[in-house]
Amino acid sequence: MKAKTPIGRLDHAHVWHPFTQMRDWLRRDPVVLVRGKGTRLWDAGGNEYLDANSSIWTNLHGHSHPAIDAAIRRQLGKVAHVSALGFANEPASRLAAELVAAARGPGRDGRKLTKVFFSDDGSTAIETALKLAHEYSRRTGASRGKTRYLSVRGGYHGDTVGAVSLGHIELFHKAYRGLLFPTDAVMAPYCYRCPFNRARPDRQDARLGRKCGWECVDLVRRQFAKARAEDRPYSAFVVEPRLQGAAGMIPQPEGWLARVAALARAHGALLITDEVMTGFGRAGGPGILASQAEGVTPDLVALAKGLTGGTMPMAATLATRRIFDAFLGEYAEFKTFFHGHSYTANPLGAAAARASLSLVRSTKATHKRQRLGDWMEAGLERLWSHPNVGDIRRVGLVAGIELTKDWKTRRPFALGEQAGIRVCAGMARRGVLTRPIGNVVVLMPPYCTTRGQWTRMVDALLGSLREEFGAGRV
Ligand SMILES: *Cc1c(COP(=O)(O)O)cnc(C)c1O
Repeated sequence: MKAKTPIGRLDHAHVWHPFTQMRDWLRRDPVVLVRGKGTRLWDAGGNEYLDANSSIWTNLHGHSHPAIDAAIRRQLGKVAHVSALGFANEPASRLAAELVAAARGPGRDGRKLTKVFFSDDGSTAIETALKLAHEYSRRTGASRGKTRYLSVRGGYHGDTVGAVSLGHIELFHKAYRGLLFPTDAVMAPYCYRCPFNRARPDRQDARLGRKCGWECVDLVRRQFAKARAEDRPYSAFVVEPRLQGAAGMIPQPEGWLARVAALARAHGALLITDEVMTGFGRAGGPGILASQAEGVTPDLVALAKGLTGGTMPMAATLATRRIFDAFLGEYAEFKTFFHGHSYTANPLGAAAARASLSLVRSTKATHKRQRLGDWMEAGLERLWSHPNVGDIRRVGLVAGIELTKDWKTRRPFALGEQAGIRVCAGMARRGVLTRPIGNVVVLMPPYCTTRGQWTRMVDALLGSLREEFGAGRV
């Protein structure tokens, strides 16, 4: 079709969109977003929307937040970019100190993250972590000559080749198999579809009514034990703490993270947490790391998406002193970390991140997030009335609503039926923008979302469900 706006026509002519079947894209008039304020976005035709997935999980405090915008403008008045290869800059140095201070949680395992390596995106933050883990374990001899990584099925860690190697989403990753290095996977604790969960489908979050004996943790234990028995230990265990994002918002039952982290420790593997989505309060709690909620301190942690409050592409990989020290040596020993990017430690991004971080950490903001979480809980409750809603799972300010053909059997829609895509299209017609993951509708509101706006998001989802599947009641 011919796009209706001039920008839409340019887009159709030249822009290739990520994770998008471009044939479908070219059949539709693109929504051209031109302005944002708080939770609201406006398109070129003046239509108003609510941003119900925080612009692909990046935004924290709403669009055009005055404090973040002012910080960027102030820095722009000094300098936009200087290189971190050979020079220090103020915003990045201050940000590093603030991140390290904020990451110092109630960790009970005595580890401390003290160093920050900056990059540009979640993928590059993970790439940094996996290279550091590789070099660290090679140098300390822990890898026995071959670095091995263990990660979680359904895990998503980004789209660079290393990050894809750590990921285990069949649909995204199989196309690149020939490009990747092999990694092992353990079962994800996906209670709703867990073969060990003996509970019958019920109208509540599947984590709560689950009947099992932590078989998923036993499998992790066995995997580590097997590697030890073969004398091919894992160098690192990589995990999205508390909930897996792109896997379909798969939340971990409480206690899973602490248990598997202890196993990784016991077997001498570094713990890499991917907090690209969960960080900065998104997964709940007052800390900037979701892992803090279970008293877990990683050896390496990747932060991105919300780092700048959703304004600028910037990422950070935090590391412990122990890892940093393994890279120290005389120049000619070439222990240098040979890795980096042109925009590493970009001052504009760092200025935005500092402003966002101070908003995240205020006591008032913590209360506000708690309150939004309570509203979300109450609003999500209404969705159980629809028979095609199989599971509703919320962690902090992230909710995944899994659609099924029949909640009583958990029978899934075939991906080709595009149930999630259809429902989200219906929500967009109702002025609420979000993006599904297969059959899972994601609701991830910015922290500034009002109670009324949240109600409109849930109304749009219910309205769209009824339009697509009928108004049937449970
Ligand atoms: C989005 C995401 C990534 C990749 O981040 P990009 O900025 O898209 O490269 C990595 N890990 C997790 C958990 C993510 O949600």
